[in-house]
Amino acid sequence: MTTGRLSTCPLCDGRQLRYAFSRQGYRVVRCAQCRLMLLNPQPSDQELGQIYTDGYFLGQPGAEGRRRSSEMRRATARHYLRELRRYRGPHGGRLLEIGCGEGDFLSEAEGAGFRVTGVDRSPFAARVARARVGAHALVVCGDAECLRPGREHFDVCVLSDVLEHVRNPLSFLALVRSLLRPDGVLLIATPSLDSWSARLLRENWMEFKPEHLFYFDSNTVQHALFRAGFDSAVVRPGWKTLNLEVVAHHFERFPTSGFTPLVNMVARVTPAALRRRHVRVVASGLLAFARKRRVRPRPRLSVIVPAYNEAATLDTVMRRLLDRDRRDVDMEIVLVESASTDGTRELAERYARDGRVNVVFEDRPRGKGHAVRTGFTHATGDFVLIQDADLEYDIEDYDALLEPLLNHREAFVLGSRHGGSAWKMRRFAGQRLLSVGLNLGHWLFTLLINVLFSQRLRDPFTMYKVFRRDCLYGLRFECNRFDFDYELLIKLIRKGYRPVEIPVNYRSRTFGDGKKVSLWRDPPLWLWALVKLRAASIDPMREVERERAAGIRGHADRASRAGERPAGHEPACHLSAARGDVMTPKET
Ligand SMILES: [Zn+2]
Repeated sequence: MTTGRLSTCPLCDGRQLRYAFSRQGYRVVRCAQCRLMLLNPQPSDQELGQIYTDGYFLGQPGAEGRRRSSEMRRATARHYLRELRRYRGPHGGRLLEIGCGEGDFLSEAEGAGFRVTGVDRSPFAARVARARVGAHALVVCGDAECLRPGREHFDVCVLSDVLEHVRNPLSFLALVRSLLRPDGVLLIATPSLDSWSARLLRENWMEFKPEHLFYFDSNTVQHALFRAGFDSAVVRPGWKTLNLEVVAHHFERFPTSGFTPLVNMVARVTPAALRRRHVRVVASGLLAFARKRRVRPRPRLSVIVPAYNEAATLDTVMRRLLDRDRRDVDMEIVLVESASTDGTRELAERYARDGRVNVVFEDRPRGKGHAVRTGFTHATGDFVLIQDADLEYDIEDYDALLEPLLNHREAFVLGSRHGGSAWKMRRFAGQRLLSVGLNLGHWLFTLLINVLFSQRLRDPFTMYKVFRRDCLYGLRFECNRFDFDYELLIKLIRKGYRPVEIPVNYRSRTFGDGKKVSLWRDPPLWLWALVKLRAASIDPMREVERERAAGIRGHADRASRAGERPAGHEPACHLSAARGDVMTPKET
């Protein structure tokens, strides 16, 4: 098969595939929209055939060298299995590895209690793998297609250094998805443009080679996973077990200017015992975990509307939301009412009768942050948008905000109040001093965020935050007041998402109109939140483990007091919005 040239990005369908540089005569291009990198045109089957010889995945030469390579691959496999266990729990099940090579991972997975199946194109590798696994294991020589797609057999599928080799990652992932049971888990190990080696070596990165047709990073791999029907993604640094000897051998096979001579020299002067010592390093890759999700015919947007004493505007906002009809997306409105005293609650009760609105009643006001977090636990959409129940923002901007998400270009979008032509920030008639103070504060806090979290944002404090709901997976939130805006933004950034800003319309309220920020109470809270968020360690995998443990306990709990809890209160959910009430002065 000759494939020729791609005219659109396989990930986002963007048409701007821009030349980046050439490597060994092949053009490396970057999609200007989603930033996926790829070879375009791809090498022909014949050219690839010359690269994929029997020796391709064998590691070091000689029987002894091969044994040592295998040992190292097994150490890496054990690490992958440990992470897999953290992600999905200790139970085994049926595991499939596509591109299983000589079966090092399969054999370790068998030891960890899985029933394993392996597939590899190389007859030689498949033969070796067969000899290494137990009698109940199955090793097939061929492509993934020979596994009868559509039969949902497997609990886990592993793609270790495979996704970057396939001609179309999305259709390949769709095939993998069809082999997994509902809720099945996918593990991907692939080189990452986010890795330190890629950042350091740039064009000379050793992973740029003709047989690698695609180059992902933490964001693009998640776009691909989501588009192919997976969610709950957790991306980890790709730890591998290596030794100096293997690294030197690798650089000899794939010469990298400047690096190969250096590594060679270091290897030559290092004593053999030290050269062969195993070290666990984050080299050039990432590990991604995800679950098969139920795919809807149309994507769903969850609009979360926190409402507390908004009787004057809530009705208008709700009617505008309900009047919006989008042909390409279903809308679910989650209205969170926080025991208002001005008639908002009665209004919300009316909307509770509308099938399109999910109304959640909080028993007392605990801050906007708390209300939004409660909304998260009730949202079921693919995307989440937070909409205040006032009229500061313009619902007409939804289309523009959603577009990059629906087209799989971005995971996280901010509606920026600075982007349009006019200066829309706080200009309160007759309150000049207040306006100056607020704008100065905004400028200062924006600078702080940009410096502390290496961003270039103009308006990080916008209310319009739109993101894939999947981004929240593995994050725990604690802030209840307006500091929650910081917490949400920064935890998403620290989980690895890069927010893009899209200009939106904005009309600021004055304090007289009911603006609820306190000039005295809130800025110190924000500052404290920033310090805490900078210092905190963000570990989605740890949260996933914690949530699973809590979920198991929660199950037992719920079973023992079934029916006791009033509907709509403190739902048990993997996002644990209702827990961890920290650093929150009570709101009155
Ligand atoms: Zn793209």
